[in-house]
Amino acid sequence: MIELKNVCKEFTDGGETFIALEETNLQINENEFTAVIGPSGSGKSTFLTIVGALQQPTEGTLSINDEDVYKMSENKRSDLRFKDIGFVLQGSNLIPFLTIREQYRLKLQKEKKDEANQRIDEVLELLSIKHIGDKYPEDVSGGERARAAIGLAILLKPRLLLADEPTASLDTEKAVQIVEVLQSISREQDTSVVMVTHDERMLEYCDRVIQILDGDVSEVTEEKLKNKK
Ligand code: ADP
Ligand code: MG
Repeated sequence: MIELKNVCKEFTDGGETFIALEETNLQINENEFTAVIGPSGSGKSTFLTIVGALQQPTEGTLSINDEDVYKMSENKRSDLRFKDIGFVLQGSNLIPFLTIREQYRLKLQKEKKDEANQRIDEVLELLSIKHIGDKYPEDVSGGERARAAIGLAILLKPRLLLADEPTASLDTEKAVQIVEVLQSISREQDTSVVMVTHDERMLEYCDRVIQILDGDVSEVTEEKLKNKK
């Protein structure tokens, strides 16, 4: 459903060209939970933002359900980003001045009020954060904030959920909670989930592991993963 064909990304810095992502060919399937690993600076965020329709590759195409994302109109792409792609950014994508419920409602402003509230309750329930619905992001714990950010990203049942290091700075128990939630989202919501992580303990929850080394993207087989442990 999501396909990268001959995608590559270069940056120019002071007249010098630098390849952040080498030519990449890849498919991401429905309901698949994919982990992306690799050292700092290897190109993980670059990969994720290209897949998330946020950053155009220098060359190659990204298609979602056979539609070329970077060839469609700006309006349509903007729609796609709002509805079909959920993004959990590194850090937090929550607005400090609104309660969790208020920002969820903002995302659902085009829905009928009753339906919006029903969906908000459903998502809060799924993430086990009903008790913080009326709180501001800074008044909840790091683990709750991370789950609230995922909730915001899945309100509109996107086809694709992208999470950039959602477990960074969480202890193992909280990190596992997050990864279990992402796994259940990929299973139950018809959402493909792609998660960047530094944490190898989280890989057993994923269907598939992709490694990026100096911009070179490759599939990690189960055998290779076992050897790593
Ligand atoms: P990661 O997420 O794996 O840490 P990034 O994708 O953020 O890596 O970055 C990969 C490389 O591309 C790094 O060397 C980074 O400095 C460079 N890079 C990323 N974004 C830009 C940009 N907008 N302009 C110039 N260089 C960039
Ligand atoms: Mg990064």
